[in-house]
Amino acid sequence: MSTLDDELGKDLAELQTRGLHRSLRQVESPQCPHLNVDGAELLNFSSNDYLGLANDPSLKDAARRALERYGAGSGASRLICGSLRPHHELEETLADFKGTECAVTFSSGYAAALGVITALLSRDDVVILDKLVHASIVDAARLSGAQIRVFPHNDLNRLEALLQWTDRSKPEAETGTDSKRRKRVLVATESVFSMDGDQAPLTEIVQLKERYGAWLMVDEAHATGLYGIRRRGLAENLNLSQRVEIQLGTLGKALGSSGGCICGSRRLVEYLVNRARSFIFSTAPAPAAAAAATAGVRLVQSPVGEARCKQLWEHVATLRPAIRVPAPSQPGAIVPVGIGGEAEAMEIAQRLREKGIYIPAIRYPTVARGRARLRLTLSAAHSGGDVQRVIQALAELGLAHDTQATSPHAFPR
Ligand SMILES: *Cc1c(COP(=O)(O)O)cnc(C)c1O
Repeated sequence: MSTLDDELGKDLAELQTRGLHRSLRQVESPQCPHLNVDGAELLNFSSNDYLGLANDPSLKDAARRALERYGAGSGASRLICGSLRPHHELEETLADFKGTECAVTFSSGYAAALGVITALLSRDDVVILDKLVHASIVDAARLSGAQIRVFPHNDLNRLEALLQWTDRSKPEAETGTDSKRRKRVLVATESVFSMDGDQAPLTEIVQLKERYGAWLMVDEAHATGLYGIRRRGLAENLNLSQRVEIQLGTLGKALGSSGGCICGSRRLVEYLVNRARSFIFSTAPAPAAAAAATAGVRLVQSPVGEARCKQLWEHVATLRPAIRVPAPSQPGAIVPVGIGGEAEAMEIAQRLREKGIYIPAIRYPTVARGRARLRLTLSAAHSGGDVQRVIQALAELGLAHDTQATSPHAFPR
């Protein structure tokens, strides 16, 4: 008899005791503000569907057309025979949107991070990470075998010290004619951080990586579609797009579909097609997903996208001042409500669910131990009334200022 179940049972019980056990909730509706979860209707403040595209008719139409024309599955990896027209259209659309020479897509943002970092770096190289970067980047860094150095969140002095350290430890061969290639140094950060919603000091990071001859990867998962005049992301907003070597993105958040992408130079993309294992050894995404993502990017680029984005920022402006707990300095669609204890956060999330509001509690290992929080996300698909409802519910739990006095007529939607 196998001891597998016995051993796993003990580990799971331990997770239960520590308030860290997780389970899935079945959702019976599309992603939208009103979710049907386990049979109950909940007002949804949990998704990353920031612009309300996941259930948008134009994305669904595009997916349906691709499904009819190209079928349900892709059949093989892109390099074998799965490189269907919808994938190429998506990559052209993404490069145009991001203003880069080229783009390449993956089955997820996670796969994109894994692919690019392991393709670029190996044992002789160094990767320098912000302490709070996404798990996909941490996993990729580990898998690459490169030396990993971590700087405290957004700490430019420590980043510079690490860059100086790598500079000093460069092999002699670098400047000579030795065939050994140069030690590669990659700095990786998110532009808008997924759990705190705060921003990296990108301008300064770009200056530093240039001063020390390092490369920079910026993960724009939570900024694409929301920042910059063309809604390309925070790098555009700060006018840095042309100085960031590698732009990582997901097609599954503001863009409303699923998949991941790397945007950058033509050479970079050619290199990834040849070397990124999560691209090479994985079946191409379903054509419908690629077509939906293309429609998502086009929508974001259109006046409708502009209006959605504006709507989202209006909600941010309404909600942020109402939250009692100190928030990170820059406002955004991610509104963390700090709680602390894991069990307490779970308890508060449960009480909100009883009030018909769905805000997930985020716990270790997603965030540090003892730093559990509610992670509230806003969407352009919310109405002004939805935003008032969540403020009210949080106020009843002492987490927001009471805004009963606010006239509902101020929110026409
Ligand atoms: C969601 C996310 C990813 C991964 O993207 P998926 O498409 O969901 O796999 C990468 N980085 C950050 C910061 C994310 O939030």
